[in-house]
Amino acid sequence: MIAVVPVRSGALPAGGAETVATADGNVILVGENTAAAVLELGGLATAVRCWETPGFQPGRWADALAGVLADEPLVLLPASPDGRDLAPRIATVLGHELFSAAVELRDHIVRTVGFGGAAMLEHHIGDAAVITVQPGARGIDPATDTHPGEPQVTSIHPELPDVPDCTTLEVLPADASTMDLAEAPRILAGGNGLDDADRFTRLSALAAAIDASVGTTRVITDKGWLPHERQIGTTGVVVDPKLYVAFGISGAVQHTSGLGRPEHVISVNTDAHCPMMSLADLAVVADANATLEALCELIGVSDDTHVGTIGG
Ligand SMILES: Cc1cc2nc3c(=O)[nH]c(=O)nc-3n(C[C@H](O)[C@H](O)[C@H](O)COP(=O)(O)OP(=O)(O)OC[C@H]3O[C@@H](n4cnc5c(N)ncnc54)[C@H](O)[C@@H]3O)c2cc1C
Repeated sequence: MIAVVPVRSGALPAGGAETVATADGNVILVGENTAAAVLELGGLATAVRCWETPGFQPGRWADALAGVLADEPLVLLPASPDGRDLAPRIATVLGHELFSAAVELRDHIVRTVGFGGAAMLEHHIGDAAVITVQPGARGIDPATDTHPGEPQVTSIHPELPDVPDCTTLEVLPADASTMDLAEAPRILAGGNGLDDADRFTRLSALAAAIDASVGTTRVITDKGWLPHERQIGTTGVVVDPKLYVAFGISGAVQHTSGLGRPEHVISVNTDAHCPMMSLADLAVVADANATLEALCELIGVSDDTHVGTIGG
């Protein structure tokens, strides 16, 4: 099994580290400044092949990698935007079946998310497959995923074929208000402790001001105050942010099971003993509505901030 991870400017994509861990540290890093990505992987990697190549050329990369991957029955890529672009092309050149958005892989069975998150699908994979790994679903367990010693790092230089490919016209910065929650590095989430729909407009304005994304609980999506793609949890999106801030969220297991392993959790709640407060690095016992308003004022989010529709 091998991971293929596209790298932009030395940064691993969402789900990149989990994909490498799933492949037990065996990875090809392709893109620009792959050396920095090796450092970011740290002890997760055992054998790294770096292919330093400029731009993003998924069609040509797939053709060029066909020879390198010819003897690899299982090829894993992160289900990041670049991974989702590259995976079907690799599947085509290798003649392998493609399975997208895997949340679990064991023996010859892969489980994927289907129907916009409404169903979990189980597939029996044959001897060979290309699989994209859903960011946040697996997580990283340092105790079992980290390998001792330095990884073996080599460079590869597959020849880029002269075939037509997509052209990158412009790379736009990610818009936190509309990006896929699964890939969001910072999430401000509101729950039933927030008074009304207007609070979520304020939450969204605050999130926009600090380049964060908005998340929520099922209670709120059931009320129709936010769309389903903003719901975190077992019947929503699985996320894995670095920062997660919960305003008035109790921390029911159906919610926290979708949380991944955030580096920092802040919870604002009037109940000091609810599960979300126990989970938090910083637990603020306060009215979440008043705290939200105070933060908006502090950061300079005006009362009439127009935020439009919060969508995915
Ligand atoms: C099959 C199934 C699937 C589910 N899937 C999901 C899922 O995917 N995602 C999900 O989120 N839920 C899911 N749920 C629902 C889940 O069980 C909880 O009901 C839900 O997560 C609770 O949302 P909440 O924390 O917003 O609301 P509540 O549980 O009502 O908690 C509100 C919190 O706000 C606090 N609070 C109240 N007033 C204030 C205030 N003024 N200031 C600060 N804090 C205040 C309260 O102390 C409380 O902790 C599922 C349930 C089932 C049965």
